[in-house]
Amino acid sequence: MQKGKINVQTENIFPIIKKFLYSDHEIFLRELISNAVDATQKLKALSSMGKYKGELGDTSIEVKLDKEARTITISDRGIGMTAGEVDKYINQIAFSSAEEWVSKYQSAAEKSPVIGHFGLGFYSSFMVAKKVDLHTRSYKKNSKGVQWSCDGTPEFILEDKPRKQRGTDVVLHLQDDSDEFLEESRILALLKKYCKFLPVEIVFGTDTQIKKQKDEKGEEKEVSVEKPRVINNTRPAWTQRPSELSAEDYREFYRELYPMTFDEPLFNIHLNVDYPFTLTGILYFPKVKQNFEVQRDKIQLYCNQVFVTDSVEGIVPDFLTLLHGVIDSPDIPLNVSRSFLQSDASVKKISGHITRKVADKLDELFRKSREDFESKWDDIKIFIEYGMISDEKFRERAKKFCLLKNTQGKYFTLEEYRDHIKGLQTDKDNKVVHLYATDKEAQHGFVEGATERGYDVLVLDTPIDSHFVNMLETEFENVSFARVDAEVTDKLIRKDDELPSKLSDEQKDKLKALLEKHLDKQSFQIAFENLSESEQPMIITEPEFMRRMKDMSAMGGMHYMGKLPDSYMLVVNSNHPIIAGLPQNEDVKAQEKQIRQLIDLALLSKNLLKGEQLTRFIQRSIDLL
Ligand code: ADP
Repeated sequence: MQKGKINVQTENIFPIIKKFLYSDHEIFLRELISNAVDATQKLKALSSMGKYKGELGDTSIEVKLDKEARTITISDRGIGMTAGEVDKYINQIAFSSAEEWVSKYQSAAEKSPVIGHFGLGFYSSFMVAKKVDLHTRSYKKNSKGVQWSCDGTPEFILEDKPRKQRGTDVVLHLQDDSDEFLEESRILALLKKYCKFLPVEIVFGTDTQIKKQKDEKGEEKEVSVEKPRVINNTRPAWTQRPSELSAEDYREFYRELYPMTFDEPLFNIHLNVDYPFTLTGILYFPKVKQNFEVQRDKIQLYCNQVFVTDSVEGIVPDFLTLLHGVIDSPDIPLNVSRSFLQSDASVKKISGHITRKVADKLDELFRKSREDFESKWDDIKIFIEYGMISDEKFRERAKKFCLLKNTQGKYFTLEEYRDHIKGLQTDKDNKVVHLYATDKEAQHGFVEGATERGYDVLVLDTPIDSHFVNMLETEFENVSFARVDAEVTDKLIRKDDELPSKLSDEQKDKLKALLEKHLDKQSFQIAFENLSESEQPMIITEPEFMRRMKDMSAMGGMHYMGKLPDSYMLVVNSNHPIIAGLPQNEDVKAQEKQIRQLIDLALLSKNLLKGEQLTRFIQRSIDLL
């Protein structure tokens, strides 16, 4: 027997590991199982190279709980270790890398959290254990079993202990406050979280299965059979070749990833890169909900099939976090903080690559079957618009397949649409004015007015459309967007032919003063327009700029502006006979009543007439009748 002391370089790391954030203690299981997987994979590799000639046998990794002894045991049938290797790998290498990890973690954790707390390794066992026994025998010929024990001080014991089987048992004697890890349900949940797709079978407890068996008389009987419960799928879809997988296989894998989601994904992208970095994965386009925040953070990040995190912020561009699926890459640095990630060169390359792949896939779908692409458009629209707003590279690619939909349900590319409307909808400054409705019902009158003039109207009804429209205006020269109610219909597309006014400037000023008495100055402005006699006498519009700013601030991302107030324009048609007649009315009371009635009608058609004003309006209307 050998008693020894681990060579402590800096300070005793055991108390630090124990003190580790309580919520992170669970990672010990992932670390120990990863080691067991590595040891098993190494042996398989040696065997396939002919360097290990023995039987591989059952190589599954077993996790066992013993409530009475208060232990968790992780057993593998991998390469195992000789006494010399235990001393080298566990006492020296593992310890010093844990030491390094702890010091790195301490400084990184002050700034921002570390991704998935990866790589603490073997010594993470001391987060939950007061004592750890490692019982192992190397695969090498004539090896003897050895046991290493350590009670959370730098002192350890290394002694011979016979062992029949090749491989390693790690036995954790749990601390008094780690009872939760003796619960079968807790361990099962952890295994499901971290080990669901590990490449070596993980067995935990047993499942009972009902099987049909024949008894002595040859009669079939149902009996329950105990069988080891395998936790994981060792060959998840992303590790297979796309040519081996059918559309149904991809859907099946989606269900495996999200058992609680009932929507089918729209389509998927299989990622497979091995140079200049290694990356595999499958990304799915889900049906995007109006409130898309709820479906963020569904991409799971793996490192060689070990689950790391489901928060890929900083690793993939923001708009791609709306996608679902799996990314697996050993090249993403996992023991650094998120803020560091964004500046990491390989992460930048990875995120650029994913963006390109996503754009390529969309482009391919668009070119292969325009009809199918259009049928999916409403579901993927938010995603593409968001991508175009936030990612310049994606924007360039997406310009080709980004679609606009009009009120008749027809789809156009940006370029097709410009060609479609430029005849009638080019204004006097040579801008092609794209008209749109955000709510076909609420803006019905304006949509109808525009359609009557032969204009085309788009439907832009998602919360990010105001940002989207802003982006298109900066991106394309001579293109502007106006909601149908941004102006009176006649003025939506400004041409040179101004009609003369039936009111003098002086009359306008007087009338304006009378109108102002009835309107809230904060939200209403008044403007006179010389429209045709058949246009309504008063119309309330929402000038494009202020309304768009308001929508954008409501959407977030412009916090410094706070919530903006409504901003309306009361447009008075100077040429409508009633308006033109107002100054002639000498009965002041009747004139005021008329003005109030006209304003109320304008408010009513904008659905803005409420409460006391509405009651009075109704009474006044009845009186008039
Ligand atoms: P890492 O796994 O990152 O190398 P660890 O601290 O987890 O760091 O482990 C250190 C070393 O101990 C491993 O590289 C391996 O050589 C050895 N080791 C740990 N667990 C096992 C095991 N179950 N079987 C064989 N060797 C192991």
